[in-house]
Amino acid sequence: MNTSNVNILERTAKNIYSITPFTLLDFPGYPSCIFWFSGCNMRCLYCYNPDIVLGKGSLTYNDALEFLKTRIGLLNGVVMSGGECSLHPHFTAFVSEVKELGFLVKIDTNGSRPKVLNTLLSQGLIDYVALDFKAMPDKEVAITGGVFFEDFTASLELLLSYRMAFEVRTTVHKSLLSSDDILTMSSYLNQKNYQGVYYLQNFKDGVPTLGDIKYNRTTIDLQALKNSKIPISVRN
Ligand code: SF4
Repeated sequence: MNTSNVNILERTAKNIYSITPFTLLDFPGYPSCIFWFSGCNMRCLYCYNPDIVLGKGSLTYNDALEFLKTRIGLLNGVVMSGGECSLHPHFTAFVSEVKELGFLVKIDTNGSRPKVLNTLLSQGLIDYVALDFKAMPDKEVAITGGVFFEDFTASLELLLSYRMAFEVRTTVHKSLLSSDDILTMSSYLNQKNYQGVYYLQNFKDGVPTLGDIKYNRTTIDLQALKNSKIPISVRN
């Protein structure tokens, strides 16, 4: 362990809500574990991790590193998810230790902390990023409870400027985002010169959510999105 980080990480609070010890789905191509960070600065109505967003962590960074030491040679990757991982103090130091153990790192982020992202990118500490695109400014407050569009754009531009492997994804609940909204969002990505796939995921019915949101029986209409200038793919 990098000695300059030891004291910092030993003093940190319990930032991690729980660990999923094994997944083949969340970091494609790499058997991984998932660290679920507690807390989030957004309050997305459709969020299906209310316990993680509102709850307290149960594991420290050191607990997570001790777990990882038992997985060397068994797992390739670590997914930092949540909640919003980038909000946590000393997150960069923690990721640095994970990299020193030899793991690839994927970050799931809502894009609201471009400065943290910049530090991670400039130090070469991450291997893949899944960036949430919540909405254009006219809808973001209703969906997330806050104003984050500038930070999202800064994060997007950073990822593009570093030529980082990343994806942009949006959760779609029909009462919150229409096909026209999605087309506007895909046009925005195109205008920013994002050339990857724009992933959409249908809101999950029948699970606890952060907001009081109605069931959404209709699914994404790909036909209505056929004029998108960037490729769109639906994940579920
Ligand atoms: S869906 Fe929204 S509230 Fe839930 S973890 Fe992601 S950014 Fe936070």
